[in-house]
Amino acid sequence: MNIGLAVIPGDGIGPEVTAETLPLLDKIGTLFGHSFTYTEVEAGGCAIDAVGEPLPQTTVDTCRASDSVLLGAVGGPKWDTLPGDQRPERALLGLRGALGLYANIRPALLHKSLRKACPLREDIVGDGIDLIVVRELTGGIYFGERGRRASQGGEEAFDTEAYNELEVARIARQAFQIARLRQKKVTSVDKANVLESSRLWREVVIRTAADYPDVELNHMYVDNAAMQLIRDPHQFDVIVTSNMFGDILSDEASMITGSIGMLPSASLSDSGVGMYEPIHGSAPDIAGLDKANPIATILSAAMMLRFSLGLQEEAAAIEQAVTDVLEQGYRTGDIMSPGTTLIGTAAMGKRIRDALS
Ligand code: NAD
Repeated sequence: MNIGLAVIPGDGIGPEVTAETLPLLDKIGTLFGHSFTYTEVEAGGCAIDAVGEPLPQTTVDTCRASDSVLLGAVGGPKWDTLPGDQRPERALLGLRGALGLYANIRPALLHKSLRKACPLREDIVGDGIDLIVVRELTGGIYFGERGRRASQGGEEAFDTEAYNELEVARIARQAFQIARLRQKKVTSVDKANVLESSRLWREVVIRTAADYPDVELNHMYVDNAAMQLIRDPHQFDVIVTSNMFGDILSDEASMITGSIGMLPSASLSDSGVGMYEPIHGSAPDIAGLDKANPIATILSAAMMLRFSLGLQEEAAAIEQAVTDVLEQGYRTGDIMSPGTTLIGTAAMGKRIRDALS
């Protein structure tokens, strides 16, 4: 397979963590008979410095013409005083819109060897945690009608949660398809006991489920889901939910896995182009010091192989290499614990490449 990727290293630790990911993809290419070509483009603070805007049109065009997009991170203190619409993070919103990325996929995976990083009790964690949150990304209350008006109680502000059938059906389909690659279980999270938008959400998810008879579907109210994630995370395989509920639950789910440096994410569209990135930011406090954990970006590349390119075996090989290196006791500073060996960004990247077979 010939695979053309747009790569956006971005700012801070972004270039360091992507630099450890591309040679790993090259090794996957050698082992499995694929060829990767990379077109590096700018977005975020470095693009502001180079051309005066966070998301140059050439970057959008290159991403659209690629099989997928790999992004490091954007932002940093240098650009913090710019007005909101000119800040580096605008590039992320711009890319979501331009590429039609409506599904945000965030796995919460706690490796057995990192159990101590998890704030939950050991008997709850067991052999590790492995679930995925599928969040609707371009609809709901963050995009609905909003405003302020006079009321008897003084000024009143409102935001509107609105979902249509198309928006719900397409995110539900993403969740069912992902579940098929895993334990075949989807939990749809809503607030259908109170919200009309949630009642439509539930109806459409049930209707869509008819096309996936091999996947088990259950429903949970969001307040209960927030509780159950902490009480017994093992009951979940794939959680599908709205933009706002997903925003909150995906952060909760990533917290129970302990380290921000370990967690990948994907944003998917119907066109097939997906954007893959670590959930962490540009970590300016450790940028350029060879301290960043590259695993979140490396696992983002594994997600890309699985979800956008259909290369299951290749994705599993990367994930296994990461597991092996962690089990050998190698750690970057963010996941360090007594009795393990501290290594830097480049050494971690090399160890994972060497473990790949
Ligand atoms: P951050 O995720 O960059 O850093 C939070 C803490 O986690 C820091 O102590 C950092 O050193 C540590 N950390 C993060 N990633 C790590 C890694 N891979 N290895 C080891 N340690 C890691 O969040 P922040 O400090 O709130 O934000 C810094 C900048 O990043 C801001 O400009 C923010 O807007 C931007 N940001 C960008 C994205 C993105 O590009 N998707 C996401 C979040 C924040």
